[in-house]
Amino acid sequence: MRLLILSDIHANVDAMDAVMAAAPRAGWDRVLVLGDLVGYGAEPNAVIERVLALDPLSVIRGNHDKAACGLTDGSDFNHIARSAALWTHDALTPENRAYLERLPAGPLSIDDTLEICHGAPFDEDHYIFDVPDASRALDAASRRLCLFGHTHVPVVYQRDGKSDMGLVPADVEEVQLELEPGLRYLVNPGSVGQPRNGDPRAAFAIYDGDLGVLTLRRVEYPVEEAQRRIFAAGLPASLAHRLALGR
Ligand code: ZN
Repeated sequence: MRLLILSDIHANVDAMDAVMAAAPRAGWDRVLVLGDLVGYGAEPNAVIERVLALDPLSVIRGNHDKAACGLTDGSDFNHIARSAALWTHDALTPENRAYLERLPAGPLSIDDTLEICHGAPFDEDHYIFDVPDASRALDAASRRLCLFGHTHVPVVYQRDGKSDMGLVPADVEEVQLELEPGLRYLVNPGSVGQPRNGDPRAAFAIYDGDLGVLTLRRVEYPVEEAQRRIFAAGLPASLAHRLALGR
C-alpha cells in the first residue's frame, strides 16, 4: 500500500491544495494525517472538509486540534497561538468542532511495520528536536517506522542497532529513502501548512510499504493567498509573515 502522509496542515488550504495537486491520486492508495489540521491558518473548515473528502485511513489529533475544539484551554500556548486557537474555535462549524473532539490520540499503529504520532510515541505533545529525544522515541516506538509531526521540521532519524543518528534532509525538492531491513526509523515529513526549516514550500511524504521506500517532498504554493486570508480573518499578522520565511 502507498500512503500519502500529511502533517501540520494548520488550516492552510492553499498549501493543502498544492500538495494534493503535486500528489495525484494515482500515486497513493490511502492517506494518513499526523495531527494539527487547524490552528494558525484562516481556513479550518475547508481543510477539515478536504481531509474528510480524502476518506483518510487514519487521522490523529494534534495539540492545536485539541485547543481549537476546547479539549485543552491553550494555556501552554504563546499568546499568538492562543489567540489563533480562540479564533479557530469560533470559526469552526459545530460539526467540525465535534470531529476534532473525536480524533484519537497517538501513537496509533497502522500495521505491523508502521505507527504514527503527533509529537512522540511516549507523549503526543512532546517535541522531538534532537538525537537524545529521538532515541527516547525510538525506544518507545512499537514499529520499525514511526512517523511524527509537531515540530514542522522534516527530518529522518535512523537506528542501526548501535547508534542513532539524524539524517536531516536538505532543502531539496525530493528526498528518497530506502528503508533498510533490520534498521528502525523515526521520520517527520515536515509541515504542509506552516513549514519551519527556512524553506516556505509545503512539505509532505509518500510511503510505499511494499517497496519500503519513503519519499519526502516539497512543493511551492501561493503563500500570498494564504497570507491574504490570514489578514482578512483578523488573525495575528505574524502568522502571515512567517509563512513567507518558512519559520
Ligand atoms: Zn503543528
